[in-house]
Amino acid sequence: MKVLVVGGAGYVGSHAVRALEAAGHEAWVFDNLFQGHRAAVPKGKLIQGDLLQPSDLTSALERTGAEAVMHFAALSLVGESVTDPARYYENNVVGTLHLLEAMRAKGVWRLVFSSTAATYGEPETSPISEDAPQLPINPYGRTKLAIEHALQSYSTAYGFGCAALRYFNAAGAHASGEIGEDHSPETHLIPIVLQVALGQREHITIFGDDYPTPDGTCIRDYIHVDDLADAHVRALEQLQPHAMLQLNLGTGHGFSVRQVIDACRQVTGHPLPEVVGPKRAGDPPELVANSARAQSLLDWQPEFTTARAVVESAWRWHQAHPHGFDDRSP
Ligand code: UDP
Repeated sequence: MKVLVVGGAGYVGSHAVRALEAAGHEAWVFDNLFQGHRAAVPKGKLIQGDLLQPSDLTSALERTGAEAVMHFAALSLVGESVTDPARYYENNVVGTLHLLEAMRAKGVWRLVFSSTAATYGEPETSPISEDAPQLPINPYGRTKLAIEHALQSYSTAYGFGCAALRYFNAAGAHASGEIGEDHSPETHLIPIVLQVALGQREHITIFGDDYPTPDGTCIRDYIHVDDLADAHVRALEQLQPHAMLQLNLGTGHGFSVRQVIDACRQVTGHPLPEVVGPKRAGDPPELVANSARAQSLLDWQPEFTTARAVVESAWRWHQAHPHGFDDRSP
């Protein structure tokens, strides 16, 4: 299939591009490169454009003859979404509505969308299944939930076949070592801990150690980015008109912040000094996926199930690319 990967120069999107190509699909990347990296896109596959410019989308769909879209482009920092919700609603919700309209105009009905565990807010049960109430507690999660609702409506009314894939914590790097995680600024736990191992930070700050968890630190479900990418390809291949899949993507195993730091110590051999700081606003104590539905509907199994395996893959990338992609200089 010819697939337009919107946000394909970003972290998860660039891994999806590799997975699509490995599965025999033809992937094109549409990205404004605000957060994405030119170097993450295979040569000759980048169409630079903006979701907020409808004509950019229409011409990308025409030029590529896309039969399907994978949509990763979004602003995704929870704290920033609280202080600047207007940007989040505009980029995430308005931008996606432009995309849906461009697809509708061109008769493209297949869409795989990156949603998030943040749509669940502070769930009362763990692990979380897809039937848990979606009550997001910050604007980021609310924008993603608004898009899920729009997809449901487009599916019913216009025949779109959609998959909203609710990720837990994406982590790790591609097996080739060519692409990996590179955010600016970096806010995610594993890359930050590995920056300490690289000598780029003095210590790791643990955001709170008095949560109601066994070691007092937050528990998350770290799903390897290649496992995520694989699930996207499988979801794409199963889309049916007038139907919407809503699936959690996680490993089903939770690791605390301290367990992740310990795994990083084992992998890097660095003592990784830690300091306990205040809690970060909006961090629920535990987010672990029940992904039984994705496993059965997509015939999918995450290959990386230990914190150590995920960290090893991330460490290979960060060691080989201590400053990430080399595309930050003007
Ligand atoms: N975290 C931390 N120190 C950091 C960054 C993150 O203690 O410097 C914690 C954070 O509070 C959360 C977990 O690590 O419990 C994962 O955070 P991350 O930002 O990687 O992903 P999120 O869960 O916010 O999507």
